[in-house]
Amino acid sequence: MSKRITKQSFYRYLKCPSWIWFDATLPHREDAMRARVQDDALIQEQERAILVTRKSIEISAESEDEAFAKTVELMKQGAQSIYGGVLLHGHWVAKPDLFERVSGKSNFGDYYYVACDIKRSRHLKDEYCVQGAFYAEVLRGIQGMKPKQGYIMRPDGTVEAYILEEYLTKFRLVLDGIERILEGIREPHFLTSDCKQSPWFDECKNETIASDHLSRMNRIWRSEVTALNDAGITTVTELSTRNADLLARGVPGITQERLQFLILGAKALLDGKPVVLGKIDFPKTDDALVVDIEADPLRDLHYLFGVLDVHGQGDEFHTFLAEKQDEEKAAWEAFVAFMESRPGIPVYHYGWYEQDVFRLMAERHGAPEGFVDDLAERSVDVLERLREAVIFPLSFYSLKDIAQFLGFRWRHDDASGLNSVLWYEDWLRTGNREMLNDVLRYNEDDVRATWVVRQWAKQRAL
Ligand code: SF4
Repeated sequence: MSKRITKQSFYRYLKCPSWIWFDATLPHREDAMRARVQDDALIQEQERAILVTRKSIEISAESEDEAFAKTVELMKQGAQSIYGGVLLHGHWVAKPDLFERVSGKSNFGDYYYVACDIKRSRHLKDEYCVQGAFYAEVLRGIQGMKPKQGYIMRPDGTVEAYILEEYLTKFRLVLDGIERILEGIREPHFLTSDCKQSPWFDECKNETIASDHLSRMNRIWRSEVTALNDAGITTVTELSTRNADLLARGVPGITQERLQFLILGAKALLDGKPVVLGKIDFPKTDDALVVDIEADPLRDLHYLFGVLDVHGQGDEFHTFLAEKQDEEKAAWEAFVAFMESRPGIPVYHYGWYEQDVFRLMAERHGAPEGFVDDLAERSVDVLERLREAVIFPLSFYSLKDIAQFLGFRWRHDDASGLNSVLWYEDWLRTGNREMLNDVLRYNEDDVRATWVVRQWAKQRAL
């Protein structure tokens, strides 16, 4: 069993503890590009462009050992900024994007190094800070001085600092968990939407279904499963047979109303039929603009705005596409002009993501006064409305899960958000238009799937 701990170990453990175990015992299932997407990293070409003014020295080496030797040598020489460096400390392998020299005492002299990762997300996520705490421990082992701050660099080159001490407890817990798994002790299953990140998800989901584990149910919390287990209920089948009033007395911490909801969910899962709880408040008109946006997180690029224009005479699908990295602004502006030409029509999307992108694009490229607020007012989040009114017999409520359940089929067998990023990257690298066409079809299918779900819900939940 390989016992290396890297920054990916922390991300993977937080998404799926078993990922660590499988990685250590079985051949890897992932390529480097996929790992970069999952780690919120950018492609190297993008990173180098951000770092151009820092004049960082880039490490290139044939092996980790060679990269380590070169990194330490540069640190001894006092290099200001090192890109792609590697530090090894026992079985710990620290590869932050950047080591930066700052003033202070260390084994190297009157300076020491801090670590910084380049991340695309605008939010400081816990997993970044836990990775930062890991780098700090390795740096202490090498330079005899533990940095107090960790750093994240954004795609626009701005840097955010955080206090490592605040993440120490979480880091220790995660590290202990990883070390235990590397000793061969596996953690129990608990299915959540994060599990989908793991390349081992399908095997695990099947095991969870076979054991009828309570985490098969959509959005059930760990604390609720623990409370139900304490009351002697360990499977979905057992839960489905219970009476909420009676159960409420034996399950502290879960309200009778919530228990009723969970029992209905358990029944729906076993029957394979949705339960409609109430009215869904959709706009009265059937005219609609259904929107789905594709992004390439490796480049911090939003390259495709797909819109299905539904009206009395039928529908038309429109795409506003950046075929190249520098065409995002033009694609956005064409999208804005189109949306402005359809005033007052409800704007449907699935989940919160589109609204976030509208705001971000308006900040980055501009938009007419009031445009984003107007879109927010016209917005209909299909997922949000469904959640309140329908229990589906599904573990997950993603667009793929629900639309497929309702009979919709994507044209590409491997359709997924992650694959669409890889197809777009392929298109940029090779110019193979078939890859771009795959992305366009995927986007159109997502948009049409959203409308299928809305139509189903509108018919059923009145
Ligand atoms: S349920 Fe399975 S896929 Fe999900 S975290 Fe646990 S081991 Fe990983």
